[in-house]
Amino acid sequence: MEKTSIYGLTKSQLTDWLLARGEKKFRAAQIWDWLYVKRVDAFEEMTNLPKAGIQLLNDHFVLGTLKEEIAQKAKDGTVKYLFRLPDGNLIETVLMPHEYGLSVCVTSQVGCNIGCSFCASGLLRKNRDLTSGEMVEQLLKIQRNLDRMGGKRVGHVVVMGIGEPFDNFDQVMDFLRIINDQKGLSIGARHITVSTSGIVPKIYEFADIDWQINLAISLHAPNNALRSRIMKINRAYPVEALMKAVDYYLEKTNRRITFEYILLKDMNDHKEEALELASLLENKRSLAFVNLIPYNPVAEHTEYQRSDPEAVLAFYETLRKKGVNAAVRKEFGTDIDAACGQLRSKQIRRKRVRGQSAAKKKGSHYIPIQS
Ligand code: SAH
Ligand code: SF4
Repeated sequence: MEKTSIYGLTKSQLTDWLLARGEKKFRAAQIWDWLYVKRVDAFEEMTNLPKAGIQLLNDHFVLGTLKEEIAQKAKDGTVKYLFRLPDGNLIETVLMPHEYGLSVCVTSQVGCNIGCSFCASGLLRKNRDLTSGEMVEQLLKIQRNLDRMGGKRVGHVVVMGIGEPFDNFDQVMDFLRIINDQKGLSIGARHITVSTSGIVPKIYEFADIDWQINLAISLHAPNNALRSRIMKINRAYPVEALMKAVDYYLEKTNRRITFEYILLKDMNDHKEEALELASLLENKRSLAFVNLIPYNPVAEHTEYQRSDPEAVLAFYETLRKKGVNAAVRKEFGTDIDAACGQLRSKQIRRKRVRGQSAAKKKGSHYIPIQS
């Protein structure tokens, strides 16, 4: 029998699993504490469990499956991790230092099938979904490194790495339940954001869950013609259907929602689009927040360039004049392969070119960035 990662179980799943094997309920709380508060590396370290209990866990579960291949550190403190999964696949996770604390950007799939035309992740088709355990472990690996380096805590999580979280809905929701648990990693729901390219039925489903987790919508264009051109998902779920789902979400949760808008030079950065965006969000006003994202150029997507700073400012000012809450997103790790998916796709390309994989390098290491 293949052992699974214990990090993939929500607390209620772990409790049920133990109860079904004749264990007491309090064992689940003890194990949870060892996993997420004390953050042990082996079941043997769970010293308040009887030997038979440790054996039971060892027989069925493993504690970790991810291997740190690369940790690339930028001048601003951003660290981009490349992890190898047991099946050989590579994923990326990014640690970002904000003024308000540390945040981790988690990957939800190996590759992405949505295939947005500007994105590095979409270049490589989805190989598979990640399990909830593999998502939890991305966070835990980084938190454990921090534990060893003085104990700073990750307080924020964004599901904005490689993949479309709503195309792996159930595993992502379990992941969120696990990291949100107050007796565990205790990442506050208001400190978690999930970003979607706009899978409409899942926005309804997400709205119906009773929690405070934030939602971000990758909009990137205010009309169907332009949005379908840069994001083919728009052909399945056009702007009107997306906005209807957003209205449902707002009505249900009364929470603020973020619209991500990458500014692409001469593509979606004109005054005309800023005005159109403002009118699209007209009925949402105080609950809508527009995050203007500077584009990270992707080598394969030469048709897309970053907007000029003047165009960014003009776009922002047009939105503000129309009463739209907006900000230009701060960039992290500009001196490393900053855009999600870039480090991974670069590694895979290198592997294809040289016929050797980064996996052959032993152990993990930092690539120092010269200032
Ligand atoms: N699939 C989800 C979440 C992962 S992508 C989504 O699309 O929302 C997270 C964000 O990064 C999205 O807003 C996406 O559009 C943006 N993004 C993708 N490639 C980018 C690039 N090269 N430069 C800047 N932002 C990018
Ligand atoms: Fe997938 Fe998001 Fe990239 Fe689109 S932007 S290809 S949905 S990861």
